[in-house]
Amino acid sequence: MGNHGLLEKRVQVVAGVDLGGTAINYTLINKEERFLIENLCEHPALTKQGPEVCLQQIDDGLKIAAKLAGVELSDIVAVGLDTPGPASSAGVLSMRGSTNFAHDAWKGFDIREGMAHKLNKPVTYLNDANAGALWGHFSIFGANSKETSISIVIGTGTGGGVIIEGNVLKGRVGFGGELGHALIPYQRIAGIEGMEPHCNCGRVGDLESLASLTSIAKTLLPYFLTKYPGHELSKDSDINHAAKMVRGLADKGDEMCKEIFRVQAHALGLFFDCMVNTFDPDAFIVGGGVLEASPAFGKWFLDEIKVGMPPQREEQLDIPIYAMPNGDTAGARGAAIEALTMARATGLI
Ligand SMILES: [Zn+2]
Repeated sequence: MGNHGLLEKRVQVVAGVDLGGTAINYTLINKEERFLIENLCEHPALTKQGPEVCLQQIDDGLKIAAKLAGVELSDIVAVGLDTPGPASSAGVLSMRGSTNFAHDAWKGFDIREGMAHKLNKPVTYLNDANAGALWGHFSIFGANSKETSISIVIGTGTGGGVIIEGNVLKGRVGFGGELGHALIPYQRIAGIEGMEPHCNCGRVGDLESLASLTSIAKTLLPYFLTKYPGHELSKDSDINHAAKMVRGLADKGDEMCKEIFRVQAHALGLFFDCMVNTFDPDAFIVGGGVLEASPAFGKWFLDEIKVGMPPQREEQLDIPIYAMPNGDTAGARGAAIEALTMARATGLI
C-alpha cells in the first residue's frame, strides 16, 4: 500500500456481520472505533436455503448497510463474521449440522472462506457467543486493550466468552469460552436441597442447568412451585410460558420468583469464583434478559452474584461485575471489533 497521498484521505471502515437464524445484523466501525450505524440494521437471513443463497443475502445486505452508514462498499477493508456454532475456530461449520444450518450443503462448509470469496475481502470468524463477549469487553476496555474479562450472557441457554489480554480465546477446536457447560458445585447453593438440575447437553449441575431461561422451565420453576403451593404461576399449564413470567414477577418483588433469580445469581457466583482462580481477570461482564428488567433489579442481581461467591483473597475482592450493553447488536459489534483488530495487525487499516 505505501504512503500514497490519495490513500491517506480514503475512508476506511470495517464491517461486522452477525448471521442469525432469521436475520443478518450489520454494523460498521471506523478507525477511531466509532460505530457508524446507531441502531439495528437487519436483512433477512436465508440460511435454510443453503450457502449460495445465504452468501448472496449477506452480500446484498452489506450494500444496504454501507449506504446507511454513508460509505462506499470499497471503503470496507475487512469484514468480521459471527454465526451460531458449532463451528471450528477458523469458521468451518460442524459436520453434524445445527438448527440454523440445517441445509445439507452447510455440513463442513467453510463459511469464513466462502464469505471472503463472495465479498472479495478478508473475513474473520467468531462464534456468536464469543463475538458477544468481545463486544462486552470492548464496551469497557476499548479495542486495544490488554485486559482479561469473562462474559456470561443468560438467554435461552448460557453463552459467554473469555477474552485474554484483549484476545478472544477460541480454543483448539472452536469450543473455547463454552462456559455454560462447565460444572459448578451447585450443592453449595442454599435452599435447593434435592434439586437435580439437568442440562440439555446431558450434564447435571453445569452453569446452563441453573442460569438460563431453559433451566427455569426445566428445573427451577417446577422445584420452587412445590415450595410455594398456590403461587399464581402454578395455575399456568404451559411451563415454558410460566417460565417467561418469572423475571417480570421477580422484578415486582414476588418472593418465589426472586428466589429463582437468587439461585441463578449464586450459580454465577460459584462459576466466577472458579474463573477468579483460573484467570485473575480484570472484569466480569453479565448480559441477557435478567439485565433488561429494571435497573434496580439488575443491580440486585449483580450484587447477589457477589453474595454467592465463596470468600475471595483480599487482593481480588474488587474485581468488578459489569452489565453488558446493547444486547441486540452485540454479535455484529463484536465481529466488527475482531475484524478491526485483524485489519490493524495486518496493516490493512
Ligand atoms: Zn450443559
